[in-house]
Amino acid sequence: MTATREDSTGELLELVLERNPFQRARVAGLDARPSLAELQPLQKDELVRDQQRNPPFGTNLTYPLESYTQLHQTSGTTGPPLRVLDTAEDWAWWRRLFADTLDVTGVSPGDRVALAFSFGPHVQFWAAIEGLKEVGAMAIPLGGMTSAQRLRTIAEVGATALMCTPTYALRLFEVAMEERLEHALEPVERVICTGEPGASLPAVRLRIEEGLGARCYDHAGLTEAGPFGYPCTAGGGLHVYDDEFVCEILDADLRPVEPGERGELVLTPLRRTGFPVLRYRTGDVVVRAEDRCPAGHDDRWLPGGIVGRTDDMVVIRGMNVYPSSIEEAVRGVRGAGEFRITFYSDRRGMDEVKLEVELPGGPEARELQELMRQQLGLRVRVVPVAHGVLPRSEGKARRVVDERATTWSRA
Ligand SMILES: [Zn+2]
Repeated sequence: MTATREDSTGELLELVLERNPFQRARVAGLDARPSLAELQPLQKDELVRDQQRNPPFGTNLTYPLESYTQLHQTSGTTGPPLRVLDTAEDWAWWRRLFADTLDVTGVSPGDRVALAFSFGPHVQFWAAIEGLKEVGAMAIPLGGMTSAQRLRTIAEVGATALMCTPTYALRLFEVAMEERLEHALEPVERVICTGEPGASLPAVRLRIEEGLGARCYDHAGLTEAGPFGYPCTAGGGLHVYDDEFVCEILDADLRPVEPGERGELVLTPLRRTGFPVLRYRTGDVVVRAEDRCPAGHDDRWLPGGIVGRTDDMVVIRGMNVYPSSIEEAVRGVRGAGEFRITFYSDRRGMDEVKLEVELPGGPEARELQELMRQQLGLRVRVVPVAHGVLPRSEGKARRVVDERATTWSRA
């Protein structure tokens, strides 16, 4: 018989509260045997500060340093990077979950999987390699190559699957058109995306599937928490590995949100004990759904996948706006290319949104403006620009400029 989740949670708490100095400090002042719910949700900057005070690895370590075999770090786009260590056992856990996700997408022995990553210090690249080994598929690293070189390699080796960000999948398609390399993507049957909300946004997914002639899947993971989300092949969006993670969806006051509402995903991985995060605030925004997915899968279903990041959210005229919702509208307009969102304040101090989009012409700009009004209830100034003028990205896109702070400081 498998252990219940309560047992697993109890075992995790007992282990890390006994051996891990960082976690022990978190429960100082609580009962001798606190429950998980008594712990304050943990933010990344608490781990970062601990690491700065106790360099180079901090005190969130359950075992002696020589037990750890893997070092990765977060991207540090919103603050200093965090170093995260894994033991061989924890790394095997990553491998197992990643392999399961690949299995769900249909990757199997005989597949050749092109990895359009730079292979830096982020966990994603190395976990993908591990997962592919476990599955028995061939990994084709495409680090250090231009997009055209990547396309040629995909064609020459006959890659059957591609892993990248959704932004980059669309970029690769664009380069294929520009370089007359459309044929290069023909062998690709699956595009497995992560790193951005895109692959769970219906219009983005449709565009990837049409452009690349392949099925598009989403999955999700974090260096700090592990690979927690795998795609629902029946209903879209993601499932959370419920046997492996305690999953909560909390509002800004850290109370559970109501069904149908958006909240921050807070995770406790139950079996990654070397660098444990208990009630970790992922910063990922998801919708709490009570329904089973259309296929009746057991694990918790996040119908829209990751719909945004808490630090992406912008309040415009009292409304919560996520760049991913704007992206969904842009991708719904035929002929729309790259885009850039600028939040600014007008002379009266009113918040405004400017959306520069590569569009064929004025009618499409009006269509997009109308879509935005209907779907988001948002008045947006759409500025059509010529194809190719906005910056392209190889990984996660940076498409948002918030000028409101500077506008205010000038006022
Ligand atoms: Zn499902």
